[in-house]
Parts: sequence; structure tokens; C-alpha cells
Amino acid sequence: MSTETPPKTDAAEPESLRSDLKPIWCPGCGDYAVTAGLEQALKEMGWASHEIVFVSGIGCSSRLPYFFRTYGFHTIHGRAAAVAVGVKMANPKLKVITVGGDGDFFSIGTNHFIHAARRNINLTVVCMDNHIYGLTKGQVSPLSDQNFVSASSPYGAVEAPMNPLLLALSAGATFVAQSYSGKIKHMRETLIEAMKHDGFSFVNIRSPCVTFNKVDTFKAYKSRVAISEEEAKETLAEAYAQILAQPGGVIPLGTFYQAKKPTYDGGWFARAEEVQKKYGEPTMEEILEEFA
Ligand code: SF4
Repeated sequence: MSTETPPKTDAAEPESLRSDLKPIWCPGCGDYAVTAGLEQALKEMGWASHEIVFVSGIGCSSRLPYFFRTYGFHTIHGRAAAVAVGVKMANPKLKVITVGGDGDFFSIGTNHFIHAARRNINLTVVCMDNHIYGLTKGQVSPLSDQNFVSASSPYGAVEAPMNPLLLALSAGATFVAQSYSGKIKHMRETLIEAMKHDGFSFVNIRSPCVTFNKVDTFKAYKSRVAISEEEAKETLAEAYAQILAQPGGVIPLGTFYQAKKPTYDGGWFARAEEVQKKYGEPTMEEILEEFA
């Protein structure tokens, strides 16, 4: 356990959307602030608890669905985005929020993340990015910096990290943002914009693992994060340029890209209606005959 003191936040006291279960994260873990930010954003959205579904994978942050009095689905490694797509397509009225860590979304879950983004399905993905595997006691993650020393890279990680913002842009996400668990006001406002967005919204939240990551700490982030004053870009080229233009060491916070594009769920249900109007509801006999 860490002795590091996390920064004070303006997090509200837990209210009705929170369950009776208390998080069992290490004291000072950045995920407490993300939970508070999500709760505040959801209250602002005014959604009833029965309309909300949290879907997570595996990892410390993936425990989050237990801490809300909403529907929740704690799935398996890397599959949160795939299950979230299924939930949304089964009941498009539900507000689906997919949560998890960088290890889960961007290692075993990368494929599912990419295809959910590509489809521009109307859900929100929140990555609690601590640049390490916390649950399994501190291994290098796909987002850990080069030369990062960890339990699985004692002499420093050799490979270059993935950039989740550039990946989300390339895959087709129509809302791409980054925030930080030490800036809860920014986080809350960013989450609200992401939840309001019609399409696939991705918010990467730098959320320190105070127990195993001794590099990406609250103290280190304090001098490195910078909230961008710029408006979200409407073209990919401008968004890439903004993310890549940061001077060395600066971690930009903000909404880098927002675009209006057709959603998978919107298109799918419209197509289903058209087909049904044209051909009517087939009987079981007709379906069997079609495939005979
Ligand atoms: Fe948070 Fe790290 Fe503890 Fe997991 S191990 S609960 S990520 S501080």
C-alpha cells in the first residue's frame, strides 16, 4: 500500500446511484476519483438507475459496476466492449458505459475496442489508465512508457507504448477525450459531454495506481497535465495534429475530436424496420423454406 497522499478533489458524497458496496481499492487509488466523477456526471445526465448499464472486463478498475446501484456486468478479460455492444443492440434504450483499465482494453481487448469504435455504436468507453497491471501486482501494460521498470520488465520495457487516443481516432471513435483523476471538475465535464454524444465516445482517464506504479504518480502528473483551451476538432487530421503537437512530457487533457456520423445502432434498427415493412414478419415455415 502506498503512503502517497492523493490530491484533494471536489468529489461529492456518494448518493443514491451508489450501491452499499464500498470499493476495496488501495487507499489513494485514482479510481476512487473516477467513480466520483462518473457518479456526478450520471446525476447531471438525470438518467434513472434502471436505464444505466456498466460493463467491465477484468482488473482493479473493472470492479466498478459493483459500486453503483445500476445494472452491471463484470465480464471476462478484454471482452467488455464486445459485451457492451451486445447489451446496446439488445436494448438500444439503455445507457451503456463500458469501464476498465488500460491493460484490459488495450491488450486482450484491443480487437473488441477497435470494432466497437469502428461501428460508431452509441456507448461510452471510460478507460482508467494507470499504465500498469494493478490487479496482478504490477506488470508492464501496452500503455507503459518505454524503459518502464515493473515486475515483468525489471530492466525496463523495451517496446514503445500504444497511444490510446490515436488508436481510438484511427478506429473510428467519434468522440475522443482525455482527463485525469486529479482534476475531477474537468473529468466530470468531459464525461458529461461523452455521455451526451451520439456515437462511440472514448474518455481516457489518467488514474494513478499508487501501489505499483511509482512513475506515473499524482505528484508526477501535477506538473505534466495541461488542460487544453482548444475546441474539439471536427477533422481527424486536426485532432491527430493536436495530440501529437504536445511539447515533450506534457500530457494534454481535453476533448480532441467530436464528429457527427451515422451510428451502428441507428442504422441497424432503421434497416430492420425497412426490411420488415418491405417483407413483413416471416412465419417460421417461410424461414425454414428459405434455408431448405
Ligand atoms: Fe488501484 Fe493499483 Fe491498488 Fe489496483 S493495485 S486498487 S490500480 S492502487
